[in-house]
Amino acid sequence: MTKTHFPTDRFESAQTPFYYYDLHLLDETLKAVTEYSDVPGFCVHYAVKANANPEVMRRIAAAGLGADTVSIGEIHAAVTAGFPAPKIVFAGVGKTDEEIRTALELGIGCFNVESEAELDVIEEIAASMGVKAPIALRVNPEIDAHTHHYITTGLAENKFGIAREVLPALIKKCLESDHLQFKGLHFHIGSQITDLTPYKILCERILELQKELEEKFPGLEIPNLNVGGGLGIDYDEPDENPIPDFKTYFDLFKRYLPLKPGQKLHFELGRAIVAQCGSLICKVVFVKEGLGKRFVILDGGMAALIRPALYQAHHKIENISSTSDIMEKYDVVGPICESSDTFGVDEILPLTKRGDYMALRSGGAYGEVMASCYNCRPLPGSLYSC
Ligand SMILES: *Cc1c(COP(=O)(O)O)cnc(C)c1O
Repeated sequence: MTKTHFPTDRFESAQTPFYYYDLHLLDETLKAVTEYSDVPGFCVHYAVKANANPEVMRRIAAAGLGADTVSIGEIHAAVTAGFPAPKIVFAGVGKTDEEIRTALELGIGCFNVESEAELDVIEEIAASMGVKAPIALRVNPEIDAHTHHYITTGLAENKFGIAREVLPALIKKCLESDHLQFKGLHFHIGSQITDLTPYKILCERILELQKELEEKFPGLEIPNLNVGGGLGIDYDEPDENPIPDFKTYFDLFKRYLPLKPGQKLHFELGRAIVAQCGSLICKVVFVKEGLGKRFVILDGGMAALIRPALYQAHHKIENISSTSDIMEKYDVVGPICESSDTFGVDEILPLTKRGDYMALRSGGAYGEVMASCYNCRPLPGSLYSC
């Protein structure tokens, strides 16, 4: 049984708003990931940017996943959580010299490089340290945004990745350098992808590109292919679909991206692993009668969970205290002086009163990790299921 149960009796001792983590669901999710990715060559990494909560990360590390990081802070958090350095990859468009040096000292598995300028700096720093930096080049797969409007990071005009036209020159640079070690190619097409067709297109693009590069560089070995993350989750029905369909996802790659002998296929999943296990728990401060509207005002808002304000995202809202059969229509809002501090409009909820606990579901990804102290509010804490 994976439906999240909210032990409201335990919530009395906690300061709202806080994140509640269903660790049983996290473990079940990790079990599904490891089971369905048990394919020769497949390596699953966790994208730390989705949630850096220490207990959540510790469990993911214990399940044997690697870590995908975008700052030295995330690398340190990953090491602390128990991810071995060789299973940590370092991505991001703006790595600083200090971050590159520390990552090399720690002996991380790979740098996912996004530009020629970055490649040159990594080479220079590696040379000064007398080491060889492992490099994967992030390629822009240019998957058509018109067919798949939710794909926002794999396009030519985007700040991410290297254009296919300049890729051969950078591979050549890696192959000729004493301080760079060419480890492979990295792709990431976007986030919250629920129709898997773009992944199939990605597999085709990768095979095409691999063939093209092998012709340009006879004998070229591409040890790792990295297909990024982006697998989506069900924000509308978290209890019906608590665990994403990892089977179909991994089967697709197994089927459409045949690996060469010894070649590895890396995945970097964030949201799919952690989103459903976390909920933001708030208390109702007031129920306000407006003109033709009734507002539920919570003690947590966009500072605790910014996705609705930032991306017009919607999280399922549940009153976990009310046992009333009377259903009413409410706008559910936070306490912050911004109109965008709204979690839901015309939500149908059981009769709600001051002091009720409300759960904003599917908040385990890009929730706690993006929280701020805006309005001098304390950061939300966290509470774990037993
Ligand atoms: C954000 C990101 C991920 C993780 O994305 P999810 O949608 O959370 O799976 C993986 N790889 C890269 C390069 C990213 O930028």
